[in-house]
Amino acid sequence: MPSTLERPPIVTIMGHVDHGKTTLLDAYRSSSIAAGEAGGITQHIGAFMVELGDAQRITFLDTPGHAAFSAMRQRGASATDVVILVVAADDGVMPQTIESIKYATEAGVPLVVAINKCDKEQADVHRVKQELARHGVDLEDFGGAVQAATSSLYWSGLMSSLTKQQIRKNLDALLEAVLLQAEVRGTQGKASNPAEGVVIEASSDKFKGQVATVLLHDGSLKPGEYIAAGCSFARIKSMTDDGKQRLKSLQPSMAAEVMGWRSLPEVGVPVFKVASERRRQMAEEHRQETLQERRRLRRLPRSARPRELNQQELLDVASSDKPTRLLVVRSDVQGSAEALVDAIAAIPSSEVACQVIRQGVGNITDSDIELAATTNATILGFGVGLGKKEAAQAEQQGVQVKLYKVVYHLLEELEQDLLSMLPPLM
Ligand code: GDP
Repeated sequence: MPSTLERPPIVTIMGHVDHGKTTLLDAYRSSSIAAGEAGGITQHIGAFMVELGDAQRITFLDTPGHAAFSAMRQRGASATDVVILVVAADDGVMPQTIESIKYATEAGVPLVVAINKCDKEQADVHRVKQELARHGVDLEDFGGAVQAATSSLYWSGLMSSLTKQQIRKNLDALLEAVLLQAEVRGTQGKASNPAEGVVIEASSDKFKGQVATVLLHDGSLKPGEYIAAGCSFARIKSMTDDGKQRLKSLQPSMAAEVMGWRSLPEVGVPVFKVASERRRQMAEEHRQETLQERRRLRRLPRSARPRELNQQELLDVASSDKPTRLLVVRSDVQGSAEALVDAIAAIPSSEVACQVIRQGVGNITDSDIELAATTNATILGFGVGLGKKEAAQAEQQGVQVKLYKVVYHLLEELEQDLLSMLPPLM
């Protein structure tokens, strides 16, 4: 069977507190490629790679606090291809187990279950399986139909993270199960494609400056290239893996700590390669303008800051002499929403204007479309999605919805749009 894996699968370990996630992660980390190559000295960058016998690789995400996940969940996106759900055999399904199942289901990510702590006296594997089944995890041993219908798989080896003699075998068996699930789902990403990834960690370091770990899903990155993540930009100064090795290029499913950011990107934000120095400059100019504008806005009374316009204000805008493009702006996180509205407000508007009539965080809603339809506004989405139902509604009501992943693409197109509204020269 030809492999459906264009790039190594990316795996996240989830489950209830104390069920053994860290123990499992540490077991894999100690067998990671970096640990092998660099004599066991690894640094935490939020992800590491392990190799299975036949040179098949798997990337483990290891970001604390799940901040990256909740940010990505908001966008309906997912950085991970498979979730390993750890459940302690003596404790069974607990609130965070249920949360993890929900997360995986909503993100459409297949699960592999690792029943842990089987060495414990109170361990009851059968009970755990029944509880999992009750919560919608369709285990292999409860009948064939289920396995065909869902993306869940029960990993049938019993694992105790503490039993040394069994551990290697069990860990490998778990990875085999992960690979199988990943094969079923398939992974897409080629070095020759345009680079696309996600920020999984970001921090300011006294010595290194602004650093952020980028996990690449598609394409490749090299030092010297420019990347954008939300409103942040970097000329890649260096890329370092978890073995502190400097990388000449980053390939799909690899993560690296990237240095060279002008400002710290937000965790969970998509990363794209930016074509040229000029584009970077434009982006930087926008950022500076945005900052200035933000400072200016901060000095204004609260009532003068952007928000949703009331009925009277809408009427005033509608009766203005100046051609005005009304906008409903939806953004992935509050930070980018504010920066966007600030940048839009900073667009010069002597002859034509644009006015944000509503701004919000999260996916585009039916009420946004309703408002846009009644006011003849355009909806701009940054890093957010448009559901099927909403897309149909927008089409039916003749509402234009434009989705962007890069801020300055949005601003560029908006400026073009405004130019096209200029009255013709006599
Ligand atoms: P986490 O909160 O899910 O990351 O759980 P940890 O990995 O920190 O594990 C919680 C505790 O359970 C630690 O004291 C581990 O040593 C212990 N532990 C982990 N796996 C097993 C196991 O298979 N059997 C037993 N008896 N203890 C385990």
